[in-house]
Amino acid sequence: MMTMQVEPNDEYFMRRAIELAAKAEEEGEVPVGAVVVYNGQVVGEGWNRSIGQHDATAHAEIMALRQAGKVLENYRLIDTTLYVTLEPCPMCAGAMVHSRVGKVVYGADDLKTGAAGSTMNLLSYDGVNHHVEQTSGVLVEECRAQLQAFFKRRRAEKKAAKLLAKQQMANDPLL
Ligand SMILES: [Zn+2]
Repeated sequence: MMTMQVEPNDEYFMRRAIELAAKAEEEGEVPVGAVVVYNGQVVGEGWNRSIGQHDATAHAEIMALRQAGKVLENYRLIDTTLYVTLEPCPMCAGAMVHSRVGKVVYGADDLKTGAAGSTMNLLSYDGVNHHVEQTSGVLVEECRAQLQAFFKRRRAEKKAAKLLAKQQMANDPLL
């Protein structure tokens, strides 16, 4: 929601996040991708893996934060920037605060569950001792189009499956 200044590298790292989101899509997951950057270098990458890993917490941001912690050998990810294609949910925004991420840069707003301003803002409010800076709308068209295409295709697949089930019932000699 709040758009701060877009840095020169923001689009570059967001493109990587979009590539990672495509991996999620290949695995049948909602296409969201994230990268953690420290000193201009990628130290963590993640994409949605909740279904495949039977883990509701396996969001792209969490996966990227876990890897970054291992790479930096520190659970505090001070001075890092996290890039993600979709506005973080409350769980991920909370994890960014716990990790002391310096800044989050995201693409598309999530009007239903976004916790960086769309439904609430967990990244910065008075009761929290660490505020995560934020920039939104980076490559927003690409990020939004990737998600929209996924949900459109999934709706079409559901419709086709329903139709098939109906046809099979019509052919059932016992009905
Ligand atoms: Zn999340």
